[in-house]
Amino acid sequence: MSTKYEYRRRVTHRCGHQQNHTLHARCRQEADSWAHNLRKSDCDACKEKSKRIAEDAISANLPELIGSPNQINWAKAIRQRIYTMLSRSDHYKEIAACCQFETRASWWIENRNANASVIFAHLSGHKRRAA
Ligand SMILES: [Zn+2]
Repeated sequence: MSTKYEYRRRVTHRCGHQQNHTLHARCRQEADSWAHNLRKSDCDACKEKSKRIAEDAISANLPELIGSPNQINWAKAIRQRIYTMLSRSDHYKEIAACCQFETRASWWIENRNANASVIFAHLSGHKRRAA
């Protein structure tokens, strides 16, 4: 393993924002080349923002939930987290689409810490009934 050094670089990203980066590189040239590549991407704040926009768009396609306003707010965040988690995996993508069949806020809250296989079984049951 070769020794890595810490280099601090202030990078102007393509979005126009500046951000400080601590790079662990073998030499100054390597750090400079990484910093140069970082300029081609958005800063962390902009990356986070576009991720949120994408996730909001996803949940916008899911139906309204049924429950009290407090339940709905809580359940929406849970559903979005589960939906995002499922849709990122090729294996669970189809199940992610089934999130639309469960509209009870209480179910999402009760199953917020359930493991993937429980959610998988429940949502695919909905899919069969809907078919
Ligand atoms: Zn930015």
